[in-house]
Amino acid sequence: MGRIMDRKKAEFCWYQNGKVEYGAFAEWKKRFRIIHGFSTRNGGVSEGCYRSMNLGFASGDDESLVWKNFGLFSEALGIKCRDLVLSDQNHQTEIRVVSEQDRGGGIIVPKKFEGIDGLITNVPGIPLVTFHADCTPLFFVDPVKGAIGMAHAGWRGALAGMASKMIRRMHEVYGSEATHIQAGFGPAIGDCCFLIREDVYDQVKMLPEYATKLKQVNDQQWSLSLESVHEHFLQIEGVPAKNIWKSGICTCCESDRLFSHRKMGDKRGNLAAVIQLY
Ligand SMILES: [Zn+2]
Repeated sequence: MGRIMDRKKAEFCWYQNGKVEYGAFAEWKKRFRIIHGFSTRNGGVSEGCYRSMNLGFASGDDESLVWKNFGLFSEALGIKCRDLVLSDQNHQTEIRVVSEQDRGGGIIVPKKFEGIDGLITNVPGIPLVTFHADCTPLFFVDPVKGAIGMAHAGWRGALAGMASKMIRRMHEVYGSEATHIQAGFGPAIGDCCFLIREDVYDQVKMLPEYATKLKQVNDQQWSLSLESVHEHFLQIEGVPAKNIWKSGICTCCESDRLFSHRKMGDKRGNLAAVIQLY
């Protein structure tokens, strides 16, 4: 399992196992008893606009190919496909405490929940999975209490404080201290490409702490850094800056490697983010 690109000073690197390519935080692989990763388009069997590692069942791709992709991706990461627990995202901030009874939900048994963008667990061997094509994958690890979390947050989830809610929930359920939690932002649309119009701008400007995170690009558009919004919420909760890890990768700029909704519209596949304790 080789690192294929050493992004100097970068926290997030690309790895390849067989034909499957995925991204991960290099230090996390060394330091924590977890398996984690973010899929790329490379190493799957889907074709056309789904080329090639499409992990979304709802995008119109041939389901048998998506199944095959899940198998290939799981094998490359060293997790069991039959144990995956899939989110049921609706751009809100509900969080599910995942236990043994959820194992395989959305893969070999029906999901036991609806409208869940965040998953947390302390059970080893259960991979938590969220889906992305521009929206931020938020990875969480508490190495002290042995708890993890995985969340999906687009601009709605970001502004609604998904990052903050994950920290609070891990504290409530597992007694995790904010100062112990490590939080990672995987590839997502960057402020280079995420332009918002007046409708979203009006919501953002009501929150004074975001005023500095907006840049006016022209008469009708502003750019917004979602990473800085997540970071803001984590700092409010008391997560130290040294515990916040950023991929610095824009899905829209790197749409050869990653699916991007902004770049490709609905004719595209989905990427998956996964984290598991072992
Ligand atoms: Zn970009």
